[in-house]
Amino acid sequence: MKAAPYARISWGLIATGLILAVVNSTVQSIELSNALYLVATVQLAIALVIAVRVNKPDRVVWPSLLLIVVLSTSAQLFDGSFTNRPNLQAIPEFLFLAVQAILASGLIFIVRRRLGSDPLSVLTDGLIVGLGAWFFVWTVLLQPIIGTQNQTVLISVIQGSTLVMSAVVLFTLATLLFGDSMRSPSVSLVAGAIACTLLGDFLYAANDAGRIHIASTFSSAVYVVGLFLASAAFIHPSISSLTERGPIVPQRPLAGRLIVTTSALILPVLVLALTNPVDTLDRVVQSISILVLTAAVTARVIHSVRANASTQRQLISSAQTDALTGLPNRSLMISLVNNSLLTAKNESRQPTVLFIDVDRFKNINDSLGHQAGDAVLVAVAQRLRNALPHRCVVGRISGDEFVILDPDTQDPSDAMQLADRVLESFNEPLTLRQGDVFVSASIGVSTYHPSITSTADDLLRHADTAMYRAKDAGRNCVAVFDESMLERVTQRLAIETALYRALERRELRLVHQPIVDIDMGDVVGFEALMRWHRDDGTMISPAEFIPIAEETGTIVPLGAWAMLEALTHLRGWITQGLCRSDATMSVNVSPRQLHDPNFVAAVNEALLRAHVPPEQLWLEVTESVMISQPEQALDALNALCDLGVRIAIDDFGTGYSSLSLLQKFPIQRLKIDKSFVSGVAQDESARALVRTIIAMGDSLGLDMVAEGIETVQQLQILAEMKCAKAQGFLISHPVPPELMGSTIAALDAFGAWNKLRGKNS
Ligand code: C2E
Ligand code: MG
Ligand code: MG
Repeated sequence: MKAAPYARISWGLIATGLILAVVNSTVQSIELSNALYLVATVQLAIALVIAVRVNKPDRVVWPSLLLIVVLSTSAQLFDGSFTNRPNLQAIPEFLFLAVQAILASGLIFIVRRRLGSDPLSVLTDGLIVGLGAWFFVWTVLLQPIIGTQNQTVLISVIQGSTLVMSAVVLFTLATLLFGDSMRSPSVSLVAGAIACTLLGDFLYAANDAGRIHIASTFSSAVYVVGLFLASAAFIHPSISSLTERGPIVPQRPLAGRLIVTTSALILPVLVLALTNPVDTLDRVVQSISILVLTAAVTARVIHSVRANASTQRQLISSAQTDALTGLPNRSLMISLVNNSLLTAKNESRQPTVLFIDVDRFKNINDSLGHQAGDAVLVAVAQRLRNALPHRCVVGRISGDEFVILDPDTQDPSDAMQLADRVLESFNEPLTLRQGDVFVSASIGVSTYHPSITSTADDLLRHADTAMYRAKDAGRNCVAVFDESMLERVTQRLAIETALYRALERRELRLVHQPIVDIDMGDVVGFEALMRWHRDDGTMISPAEFIPIAEETGTIVPLGAWAMLEALTHLRGWITQGLCRSDATMSVNVSPRQLHDPNFVAAVNEALLRAHVPPEQLWLEVTESVMISQPEQALDALNALCDLGVRIAIDDFGTGYSSLSLLQKFPIQRLKIDKSFVSGVAQDESARALVRTIIAMGDSLGLDMVAEGIETVQQLQILAEMKCAKAQGFLISHPVPPELMGSTIAALDAFGAWNKLRGKNS
């Protein structure tokens, strides 16, 4: 059956109950009141039958309710029927007591499962409410009727017990409402029904005791509402989960609970302040009640203070530790370094900081996924913890960066030993779900020195600077900070600023290095290389300024300038007849340029402006473009190929590209890196490597150029290996464009080439 219609009926029942109650209390006719009570009871019985068939409430819940309805109806009927038989007068009173007892045990049954995540505070708060109510009931209702002439002792005892039981019901009701289990409509409706019953009982008792004077139709109206609420609770589909442990509501508002508990506390205090104990029994009951209440409040306060302290501890620890690895985070590490610097100054100690960066972590993330990346970081954290002596602290300060603090380094070799231990800890592969991976790290070491370190920030920054030096030195190594590194940083900053201006100040020039066909000796092309002559007369090498230009993005305008300039030079030489009309120009392109969306258009425009056909332009890219962001690079390179421009892989063999990438990318030339070429004359393994590269290039149909040829021997060997083209200082250093005419002429001079190759002309 569908749940929605029953939920609607449930709301209808609530409305009906309220309307009838209003009618009942305004009309004030006893007959009508009795009739309405009967109607309410009958509809509850019908609702119960329907609910049991449809909603299947717990097997304990519905029989209890049935029993309560039967008992309380009988009690109502008997009430007042035995005025002339005092012995039987106890029967209705006993039935009332039984109703309260069943209610209390039913509620305990439900509450046990719905106490939520903090049972102790809920129970103590409930106890405070129950005790407050009991105290009030005792003073206002119970104590005055004890010992009065018109009651037998038995009836007094039963009535007293009923009131005690009501306080227990109120206690359990409070705990049901205070808990942080999700409250379903049925839970609220059951609570409402019980609250109405309690209120009705109280009104009856207060009326009986002569404490208040209200029409009995009014108290009966409260019961009518209670009965309708009970029906609504049972008809509502959520009744089926009444006794289940609901999901926890993370932040239940506390205001209502606070108001109820505080009122329950204030009530006894007011009663105590305004009244005096009537007799010894009153004094005893009041004292015991206050004692229990005080114990409950004390337990509650202690619990709250403890819970607060533990929450605070948790908050502090989560603000200071890295969630992934559980290591101290940046802020904690900085304060630890700070503390160790303070003690260092007083006790002449020497703290050392190691800055560790996992090499090529981005590659791991890109190729194996972020989950594997996280697993690597966790494993690295574990390795570091295991590798270090107890006195050291390790923290993760960001992404793949870890920091180790050794608060007391005896001498510089200690720091190096520590760094070596860390490096060694990476020798074994890390075992991940995806398989074993090898990672290495670059480590920067900085030891406290009063003349150069004043804050924790300084010490960390110096270690960071040294770490970058270790990366520059080829990774997987250690670099120790010294002051010259700071100069380098300042110098780098100066270069960065000056580079922005270099283009407009016309400080940049291009030089060109000829590329020759090994067999013929003809100059078949040129490579354009940038030079920066600063106006203070210094010359900065591209190896130094190109990486900075790449980092800052200045390479985009610089590269565009170089492209047009180089093509213009080539056009000039061809027009002047200095070189072959099909000679090519090679221009270096950095990844940053390739990722620039305007790059392809800029190349096209330069070709058009210089009147050079696209097939006479080679773009030299390094293997790295195929590895980081390969998709983006592939798109750009394909678009360039569509223009007719050709692509060469520069410094081939120094990157980590796989052979499959060579097939995937539109490449027409490989330039064998000079580091291999320099070894071919002496080293058999270098020869074997170059031979393999050439064979592979040939089989893929690629044009092969050997870079960095410095000796006749190297040139001879490469000629024997059938490498097509060569470039290097032996043939020509890079020369300014105005000297290109004479350079080519010298190379073309009859016999010059054969002399170079060591052949007899
Ligand atoms: P590259 O593209 O591999 O250029 C070859 C480098 O080797 C040049 O250094 C060249 O002068 C040098 N070289 C040529 N023959 C020999 C030789 O026989 N022996 C030795 N030891 N070296 C030789 P350079 O001009 O210092 O350029 C260094 C790097 O800077 C270039 O390496 C290239 O990657 C980059 N670069 C230069 N100009 C540009 C440019 O306009 N744009 C971009 N993106 N990068 C450039
Ligand atoms: Mg190059
Ligand atoms: Mg190169």
